[in-house]
Amino acid sequence: MRPPILKTEKNSIVAEAYPIGALESNCTLIYSTDTNEAIIVDPGNSYPEIMEIVKEKKLKVVKLIHTHAHFDHIGQTKNIRETTGAKTYLHRNDLSVYEGLNEQSQLFGVEVADPGPVDELLTEDEYFSFDNGPEKLFKVIHTPGHSPGHVCFYSDYFDPPLLIAGDLIFKGSIGRTDLPGGSFEELMDAIKSKIFKLPNETQIITGHGPATILADEKQFNPFLKESFF
Ligand SMILES: [Zn+2]
Ligand SMILES: [Zn+2]
Repeated sequence: MRPPILKTEKNSIVAEAYPIGALESNCTLIYSTDTNEAIIVDPGNSYPEIMEIVKEKKLKVVKLIHTHAHFDHIGQTKNIRETTGAKTYLHRNDLSVYEGLNEQSQLFGVEVADPGPVDELLTEDEYFSFDNGPEKLFKVIHTPGHSPGHVCFYSDYFDPPLLIAGDLIFKGSIGRTDLPGGSFEELMDAIKSKIFKLPNETQIITGHGPATILADEKQFNPFLKESFF
């Protein structure tokens, strides 16, 4: 197990992110130290790595939530769902990307499992949490551009607030927009109109690589700093 890139906690709720698999996709575990229930955002494409963390922390996984349906974020979801009984969540506009997991495997030359069922759809401005709270723990923000149904998850429960950004923004970079369904204009518009309105101190779990802070990306990210200021 590699060390977490970010850990934050408040009361009994912990959020921590680990790089998983060959592409080191950041997987975020949100769990309660009271109940041991866990929500996993972007479980990734390495079943042994994710299950090692789940077992070590004795977590009961209840939800598998995805920023988008590229194999490095969702590739082992079917297997994890079958082992844990957790429900799978994805934005409607990425269903076709998920159903094309096998095409992605050809595109990237990797082995992936067949896609499993999606239990619930993620919708802009809705929230997810544990069934017994805290209420409105993470808000869904639709941020297309890297893929058509890409979403980010924002929580002001934590202090400073937390954004799980998937492949929208990286430290010093942005997500690629040359894959099927991608759009550079949509990606830049999502960052400008939605993400840049969040508090500057928001800490960001990126899809790959180190965590960052929104203010730093506004100031230093070469793809963003010239565009808007
Ligand atoms: Zn991606
Ligand atoms: Zn990725």
